[in-house]
Amino acid sequence: MRIPAKIRLLGGRFLCGVNLHAGQWQYEKESRCGQVRECSRCRKTTRRTRHEWGDPEYRLEGSCKLRRTCQRCRETDLMDEEEHKWGPLLIGVGKTPCETVRTCDRCGEEERGEPQHRTDSWEYLRENECDQRAVCGRCPEKGYEKREYHIWKEFEIGPDGRAQRVCARCGEIQRKEESSSF
Ligand SMILES: [Zn+2]
Ligand SMILES: [Zn+2]
Ligand SMILES: [Zn+2]
Ligand SMILES: [Zn+2]
Ligand SMILES: [Zn+2]
Repeated sequence: MRIPAKIRLLGGRFLCGVNLHAGQWQYEKESRCGQVRECSRCRKTTRRTRHEWGDPEYRLEGSCKLRRTCQRCRETDLMDEEEHKWGPLLIGVGKTPCETVRTCDRCGEEERGEPQHRTDSWEYLRENECDQRAVCGRCPEKGYEKREYHIWKEFEIGPDGRAQRVCARCGEIQRKEESSSF
């Protein structure tokens, strides 16, 4: 579809009015990052700075702080991010036996990971219900994992003529479906 020239012009004027000019940005000087653009519609000149950042690199030995350098003007940008080189997650070195800690090989910073419990048993939360919580055999933590654990009786034929089994603890009934595999 062709847009009539008059509408195109009005649309362009609107865009220029809100500082959305048209045309190509060009660097003004060698080894400098200032760019200039002359609008192809209204001829207004605008300027901006566009660096060509190189890859991040470490600032100092023994530190994980990063910097990057502009490939055009050599300006240096001290970046907020850090990039640690984490060693393996170790267990048994923290305050509690299941805590895990990893250490950065460069700066020595320590970070705690998810605890790794050793589940020795499960306990029911309530009488006549089948929700269980994990009990760690190495530290006092409980309930970091949950499950449902029914005590199924033998299958028997239910009132609808299909096989079913009942949980001896909570009374839940499970019906045998054609497609299921138990
Ligand atoms: Zn313009
Ligand atoms: Zn630059
Ligand atoms: Zn580090
Ligand atoms: Zn534990
Ligand atoms: Zn149950």
